Amino acid sequence: MKQIEKKVVILGSGPAGLTAAIYASRAQLEPLVIDGPQPGGQLTITTDVENYPGFAKGIMGPALMSEFREQAERFGTEIINVWIDRVDLSERPFTLYGKESADADEVTTIIKAESLIISTGASAKWLGVPGEEPVPVGLGGNGVSACATCDGFFFRDRPIVVVGGGDTAMEEAIFLTKFASSVTVVHRRDEFRASKIMQERVLNHEKITVLWNTEVKEIKGTKETGVESIVLYNNQTGETIDYPTQGVFIAIGHKPNTDLFRGMLDMDDVGYLITEGRTMATNVPGVFACGDAQDSYYRQAITAAGTGCMAAIDAERFMAEHPLAKAEEIAV
Ligand code: NDP
Repeated sequence: MKQIEKKVVILGSGPAGLTAAIYASRAQLEPLVIDGPQPGGQLTITTDVENYPGFAKGIMGPALMSEFREQAERFGTEIINVWIDRVDLSERPFTLYGKESADADEVTTIIKAESLIISTGASAKWLGVPGEEPVPVGLGGNGVSACATCDGFFFRDRPIVVVGGGDTAMEEAIFLTKFASSVTVVHRRDEFRASKIMQERVLNHEKITVLWNTEVKEIKGTKETGVESIVLYNNQTGETIDYPTQGVFIAIGHKPNTDLFRGMLDMDDVGYLITEGRTMATNVPGVFACGDAQDSYYRQAITAAGTGCMAAIDAERFMAEHPLAKAEEIAV
């Protein structure tokens, strides 16, 4: 059993977590970052990132996250890859129980944290249909996306499809009309869940067509061409058609990765962690939350990085005001 004691433990290594690590390590807090199942976060499953300031020519998502990682390590951040199975936030230092993987039986690492920054991110919900898997298996990242703000620009003058009937789908559809030649919203029922005002904008938009009672069954295309068409099933008529399109935006909701903290930290109905006022402080003193685990609204790499910075500054101030014994790593 390995036991680690740290002043600052950061759970999750996307833009929020690694920015928190850069700030905490430069403040000489020697943070420990725990990689999740997707080291580097959602950007590692995208291709070009063109809206992250400082990269005038754009940068590939995985390359951007390597830069974040290297920068965090340069100032003394330690990064480990364990699956955190359970946490105890009832007293400081907090305890995190780590296993080698999600399906491993045994706890192999116990981490004691004087303060904890949660940056576990959110995962886009996916349809689970053939063709949707990330490249190289499917067309995810090559015509299939869950982020119009990130990828809309690549679909200039092309026909695209948005799947979903909530506010995100409406917002993405409207945003995508700036680029696409046409936008088709595919929704599984005969009415939208979205707010009235957003629905009206979509229904009245000349570039947008809505296909009601329609489910996506498959996304077709090749590695070379990207998406070429999708198979649509009308659940009222039973008809199945092959519908030509070059882009598919899945907008059926996100799920914050916060189940670990259910019953311990305040969260909204969906599971987004609630922080106090302008700070990143949760309801447990010494525990901070940032990035997509805490922000249901902006969900951008740059905003996640911003809140990661804020969480580290909040943690640093908290540590100064509430010091515990010096942290050190002990191999047991
Ligand atoms: P929602 O949960 O509100 O909507 C998800 C949509 O996706 C629903 O229409 C749902 O269909 C559909 N859906 C879910 N699963 C599937 C599936 N497997 N196959 C096909 N369709 C599916 O998520 P949103 O991300 O849209 O919104 C989340 C929250 O954020 C909401 O509270 C929303 O109001 C808010 N928000 C607000 C914005 C704003 O105010 N500008 C912008 C974006 C989000 P069905 O309706 O049949 O269940």
